[in-house]
Amino acid sequence: MIPYGRQHISDDDIEAVVAVLRSDFLTQGPAVPQFEAAFAAGCGARHAVATCNATAALHLACLALGLGPGDRLWTSPNTFVASANCARYCGAEVDFVDIDPHTYNLSVPVLAAKLADARRDGRLPKIVVPVHFAGQPCDMAGIRALADEYGFAIIEDASHAVGARYRGKPVGGCDCSDITVFSFHPVKIITTGEGGMATTNDPRLAERMALLRSHGITRDPAQMEGAPDGAWSYEQIALGFNYRMTDLQAALGLSQLRRLDDYVARRTQLAQRYDAALRPLPVTCPRQAPDSASSWHLYVLRVGEAPGSPARATLFAALRAQGIGVNVHYIPVHTQPDYRRLGFRRGDFPEAERYYAHAISLPLFPTMSDADQEMVIAAVRAAIAGAASPSAPC
Ligand SMILES: *Cc1c(COP(=O)(O)O)cnc(C)c1O
Repeated sequence: MIPYGRQHISDDDIEAVVAVLRSDFLTQGPAVPQFEAAFAAGCGARHAVATCNATAALHLACLALGLGPGDRLWTSPNTFVASANCARYCGAEVDFVDIDPHTYNLSVPVLAAKLADARRDGRLPKIVVPVHFAGQPCDMAGIRALADEYGFAIIEDASHAVGARYRGKPVGGCDCSDITVFSFHPVKIITTGEGGMATTNDPRLAERMALLRSHGITRDPAQMEGAPDGAWSYEQIALGFNYRMTDLQAALGLSQLRRLDDYVARRTQLAQRYDAALRPLPVTCPRQAPDSASSWHLYVLRVGEAPGSPARATLFAALRAQGIGVNVHYIPVHTQPDYRRLGFRRGDFPEAERYYAHAISLPLFPTMSDADQEMVIAAVRAAIAGAASPSAPC
């Protein structure tokens, strides 16, 4: 079986984790701050806060920006549910902004129109969460201009975009946003098993996220409300969580980070090979904005739209039957039962729904061999030939 995504673990990674196992600290030791410092330096951010997963980082980012009951957060419907759920953890409302039909990212013109309506109705969002779908950065300059006009904060959900670049700079530098969040789940670009990171240039946001990551407890006398009883003293000064990353995970992340450029280079090469092989066929290859470089977390084809193109379900079944682990990203969040209960309906975000009806993610991961990729391409070609032949059942 060729999976759609797979981690790569080197001997160096294993040694790095074993070294932590043999050390004094499995958690709350030196590896987490080392990983944070290396990650922040790599993307050009002043601060990085490591967490147990990206979902926790999104929650902390919302809390640090003061999201609460009565507030609104807007995100893309074409994302993993966590991008929206973070608002609900804070008691805030979620709404969605339909996607661009070519990049599948949140559409800036749609956002602009929705903001104008929201201002008229007094329902402006406090936070907008652009998601860098498949690793391709959103139009951040466009979103920043709207944030300046309407006064919302921006959290970039860069779970797919570790190692991606926007206008020549690494994603995570927060040039256009308040906070950027990354995921290190094994299918993502680099992994810590489970893990996440939030970067920011604002020291107050970094401090708040670090505080809430660990129960809202401080040992810093300067932050305490009372006089310390002694050297053992700590104070809980806010209601926080245990959202910490372990040192085992951070050591793995630090080791993986050294291969980030190689990973993104190989993913890019595989994506270009898919483009070259599949572009002549009646399918739509992913379109890239000229001012950004994707980290290529996903390679998504759109099928079943042009004449002679197989329906997505047909292609999905044909490839799975041959041991090719295709997948679908994403079922629009607003169509999930738990969101329909909030009042969302099918038809609310038609571009995301149309995209979803035709999308299929092909296998893509840095250790995928050229031969495996040839097999995937041959299987796609055969399915398309089958769909185009007059003897094929409709
Ligand atoms: C994977 C993912 C998340 C959640 O990441 P975890 O680390 O699994 O919590 C959030 N948003 C997007 C877009 C993702 O792909």
